[in-house]
Amino acid sequence: MRFNAARHTMRRGLLAAAALLIGTLASAAEPVTAPPLRVVATFSILADMVREVGGPAVEVSALVGPNADAHVFEPTPSDVRRMARADLVVANGLRFEGWIERLIAASGYRGQVVVASAGITPLRLDGGADPHAWQNLANGQRYAETIRAALVAAAPTRAAEINERAAAYQQRLIALEQDTGSRIAALPESRRRVITSHDAFGYFAAAYGVRFIAPRGWTTGSEPSAEAVARIVRQARETKASALLVENISDPRLIERIAREAGLKVGGALYSDALSAPGTAADTYIHLFEHNVRTLVEAMTPAGTQHAH
Ligand SMILES: [Zn+2]
Repeated sequence: MRFNAARHTMRRGLLAAAALLIGTLASAAEPVTAPPLRVVATFSILADMVREVGGPAVEVSALVGPNADAHVFEPTPSDVRRMARADLVVANGLRFEGWIERLIAASGYRGQVVVASAGITPLRLDGGADPHAWQNLANGQRYAETIRAALVAAAPTRAAEINERAAAYQQRLIALEQDTGSRIAALPESRRRVITSHDAFGYFAAAYGVRFIAPRGWTTGSEPSAEAVARIVRQARETKASALLVENISDPRLIERIAREAGLKVGGALYSDALSAPGTAADTYIHLFEHNVRTLVEAMTPAGTQHAH
């Protein structure tokens, strides 16, 4: 660069130096970006919420992955190691993760366990709290807020970006909640009855006015007896259910058998306790909800009035 005595060139040089100095001061005042928070979520739906809210501030993994059943999960040694390295653990609570305390003890994890369902009003199921609270989008909003507060507390230097992401996510959940309510309310009440294989939709039922019929005591972990199957076939006929719906985490053959015996159609699959594989129909909490609502509305729409979506 030519550096002769021309005044304006010197002036430019000084300005550039000043700008450089200010730039250096500004970047020194800003905290060095912390490495992402290592978050272990107990199952895929929570992991997705943490990812939505945390974005680049988190590195999240799920103990119970897509299409897997958290009710019958058995941690492996690699889960114990993952837990030991975690900065933060996020669990559903409400007795959903019966295995979590043993896993924490085995791993030696001493950090915080965020209970995502904190602050929701639990429904009852089989004499205890029903854990499937995420099946009501109003509860989903509480979960997201609890996760936001925990992430901000654990990574305060990234509070602004986490809060911004959380606010955008809440807007999407609120819009979906309104859409879900109005689409289901548009169906005749007599059509809003379906049969599913386990009691995972109590919160959905209460929030949106759909009746889910599941055989009593039929958990995903055990085969129902011939008597239980006969009872649900009887119930299906008596209650004039609109359809039977299979679930991604349970054996579809049973539902197909009940449908055959009760003379009902199988109206597709619902996602209850787990997301689907990445890139498929229910790979996020929002996609799961959209898929379930679409499937239910199609199954419950009176014959002859169905239209393409
Ligand atoms: Zn369940």
